[in-house]
Amino acid sequence: MKIHEYQGKLLMEKYQIPTTKGSVADNPADAKRIAQEIGRKVAVKAQVHVGGRGKAGGIKIANTPEEAYEAAKAILGMNIKGLTVKKVLVEEAVDIATEYYLGMLVDRDSKRVIVMASAEGGVEIEEVAERSPEKIAKVWVDPAVGLQDYQIRQLIFGAGFDRRYVKEATSFLRHLYACMIGADADLAEINPLAITQDGRMIAADAKINIDENSLFRHPDLAGWKESEDGHEIEEEATRRGLTFVHLGGNIGIIGNGAGLVMTSLDVVNREGGKPANFLDIGGGAKADVVKNALEIVLMEEGLQGIMINIFGGITRCDEVARGIIHATEGMELNIPVVVRLSGTEEEAGRRILEGSAKFTPAASMQEAAQKVVSLAGLR
Ligand code: GDP
Ligand code: MN
Repeated sequence: MKIHEYQGKLLMEKYQIPTTKGSVADNPADAKRIAQEIGRKVAVKAQVHVGGRGKAGGIKIANTPEEAYEAAKAILGMNIKGLTVKKVLVEEAVDIATEYYLGMLVDRDSKRVIVMASAEGGVEIEEVAERSPEKIAKVWVDPAVGLQDYQIRQLIFGAGFDRRYVKEATSFLRHLYACMIGADADLAEINPLAITQDGRMIAADAKINIDENSLFRHPDLAGWKESEDGHEIEEEATRRGLTFVHLGGNIGIIGNGAGLVMTSLDVVNREGGKPANFLDIGGGAKADVVKNALEIVLMEEGLQGIMINIFGGITRCDEVARGIIHATEGMELNIPVVVRLSGTEEEAGRRILEGSAKFTPAASMQEAAQKVVSLAGLR
């Protein structure tokens, strides 16, 4: 899960990493007010889930609150690599003398966290990595013991940091590693790690990705999850905790398990339908999850039918059936809803659905796809 720079800085602050202070605004007037409160030169920075904002014009320095207003006006609504800027961070600008780089990420090959440092930070770090990889010092951390002091020294001297900053850099590395582990991040990066004109070390940017599978133990971070492209139904689905992707076709698809849902998309496609969406209710879904799922799919425009494909393992078919009944209570469904229930408690599930004329049962995925496509009049 990607989070914004301002959120990354809040996290870093929690781990005693010095960062620039500021607040977010979604309109120029608020940006001006924040700049007034800061009372000196500010940086106005686009908050989007993508790097390279500086090069794209998404970062401006403003000397006065009026300039901050104008900067925010120019940046808000800007399109950066396909993402619309909805928020800007207004923070005290730092007078940067030197830009270093610190980065940590989970390295899948070695199954360890790799920690990197370079004295050549800044917006060209990708080029440094490509053209002169020797300028990036790297160590791999044994998860049983964590980042060791000798590794920190290897990083700092290997990267060629100015010796005057060994103490600060050591503290940054220790705290950033603690932050990475504590927040269950799979990536934590400070670029630039700025050395200011007056000799302080400060995180001028903060990029952190959180492992989504850990969100159950970080309720405070879970609220930071956003859908990527700003699609309204996707955003609502995210709020309801569903894995949902809008596809734009005519047959709504609900299933449990990503593999089963993807197969459902293929089968419906082969039968002549066009999947409207991908929706995975996951394993062990209770009735209220199913109800949410149906409500979300019904928001899709141009829907001509719905196929519900459940393979009951830890998911109980009777729970799913109850959810379907709940979701559609008092609702006039003017499109066919074909339900295939198979596995745990399938008999009980079918009996629950038999009581309602709104649903068409199917014995297999194949049959469900054929039925929904033909009932929808698509062939
Ligand atoms: P990114 O381009 O998305 O990685 O955004 P960054 O936050 O890293 O900003 C890009 C560049 O803008 C940095 O490398 C700095 O050179 C510059 N920059 C960002 N914030 C400040 C600031 O407060 N003061 C100054 N002087 N430059 C800044
Ligand atoms: Mn950066």
